[in-house]
Amino acid sequence: MVNQELYNIGKARTVIRRLFDYGKEQRKLGNVVYDFSLGNPNLQPPKEVIDTLRELSIENPDGLHEYTLGPGLESTRQAVADNLNKRFGLELEGKYVFMTCGASPCLRASFEALKESPDDEIIMLAPYFPEYPLFIKNAGLKSVAVPCKDDLTPDFDALEKAINPHTKAVIVNSPNNPSGIVYDEATTKALVDVMERKQRELGRPLIMITDEPYRELVYGVPDHCFAKDWDNSIICYSFSKSLSLPGERIGYIAVNPKMEGADDMYWALSGAIRMLGYVCAPALFQRVIEKCLWAKPNIAQYQKNHDLLLDNLTRIGFECTHPDGAFYICIKAKDGDSEALSELAKSLGILIIPCDEFGAKGFVRIAYCVKEQTIIDSIPAFEKLYELMNK
Ligand code: PLP
Repeated sequence: MVNQELYNIGKARTVIRRLFDYGKEQRKLGNVVYDFSLGNPNLQPPKEVIDTLRELSIENPDGLHEYTLGPGLESTRQAVADNLNKRFGLELEGKYVFMTCGASPCLRASFEALKESPDDEIIMLAPYFPEYPLFIKNAGLKSVAVPCKDDLTPDFDALEKAINPHTKAVIVNSPNNPSGIVYDEATTKALVDVMERKQRELGRPLIMITDEPYRELVYGVPDHCFAKDWDNSIICYSFSKSLSLPGERIGYIAVNPKMEGADDMYWALSGAIRMLGYVCAPALFQRVIEKCLWAKPNIAQYQKNHDLLLDNLTRIGFECTHPDGAFYICIKAKDGDSEALSELAKSLGILIIPCDEFGAKGFVRIAYCVKEQTIIDSIPAFEKLYELMNK
């Protein structure tokens, strides 16, 4: 009676959810757990967000909770474009911005909009967000995972080999989930060089889907918008992480106006969002973010967590990624057995995620969007973990 494939996906609990639920149970039982499982920002939204919410609820302007047009409020879309233009030197117009329910629908709609034939392929540079392959499959395209190097940095030789006449787009995610790696200038240039060579060979636009929900969460390196580097790009953005609003479901797609066929892409994305049944992004939060585009996350607190964890993990002896962004660090498991390391950690009360599903085989992810005290308290358990891992 029901679609078996969707039933299976619905029934399956991801390792992230399993560990998160385990943590909740343990806390109920009064046991200590150091829960680094979920990328759920622990910080409150910035003051501007709280103040705007308060003002809107007091003023209660007409239409506050009405449907907006599918692409969103014109003033919000223009404000997003202005903000990106000022910060990154883009030439966006509001008419190319489409407000969405977070980054997930942006990605899902982009795949849908690009699909012309069932042979079409989307390239995912490992490590990648494990929802990509599901979304791509559900949109009727093929996902192609391009492996990364041993330190989880991108392998552009492998990318060059993977791009073929069926390739529609390459997804780029920097700052990266799960590694925390941020592309520096040289890495971005190497990516663009490959894309340019292959685009020329293909003789048609090769799209870059830039998945940027962690754009502003960077430590000591500049924030970056990849539309600056690649004309044929679609920006997928979410305020889930930068403004600590994951439960409010607010983000946007922006089509680079320099894209060949930008208007066609915009309308195909519009069609995709409609067919997926999103109707419009939350009306209240469109108004909130319009007023809070310049608000900043508490980078100092995340930076403290980042430094504290990285310093201690390297002191203990763990091999770590070099994360300049997001709120994730990956550590390497002995003999590449990330499941075993995650289980061992669980026995010590540390909840960390094996990254094989992210295309980062042999690594385990630590999400440090937690209270600083949790990190401080967890250090002896990490010391024990290292000792047991190497026994
Ligand atoms: N892309 C990446 C890389 C993510 O890590 C996440 C969420 O964790 C998403 C997209 C989805 O974000 P949203 O909550 O806005 O749907």
